[in-house]
Amino acid sequence: MPPNVRKCYCGRHNCIETFLSGPAFSLSFFEQNNIDLTAHQIVERLNANDKSAHAAIETYEKQLARALAGVINIIDPDIIVLGGGMSNIARLYETVPNLWQEWCFSDRVDTLLKPPQHGDSSGVRGAAWLWPID
Ligand SMILES: [Zn+2]
Repeated sequence: MPPNVRKCYCGRHNCIETFLSGPAFSLSFFEQNNIDLTAHQIVERLNANDKSAHAAIETYEKQLARALAGVINIIDPDIIVLGGGMSNIARLYETVPNLWQEWCFSDRVDTLLKPPQHGDSSGVRGAAWLWPID
């Protein structure tokens, strides 16, 4: 496999999940710094003003903004709620909406980006509601 190709669990390559998940963030940090840390450890370094962690999160924010701009361009949602462990990074809710305009077709984007109200496993909680309770 050539460099910069990420194999996805779904069998394809370079799915957005392979860039935006916690393990993907960890892999990006490893590729940039040759240091193997979890996403959580990288965020701890970020909070301690580590330069390499700062560079990694800036790259991540651009990737996330570009991915969400694709969603905004297609369905123009009122709100996007992040999920998963990466949704615990508070700065994303300020930085990403300031970046996504670059890839949005519309001159004005009103979409809000919000953290999950019930924590980073809200997607699983929501899925549980899909089954009726008798
Ligand atoms: Zn995939």
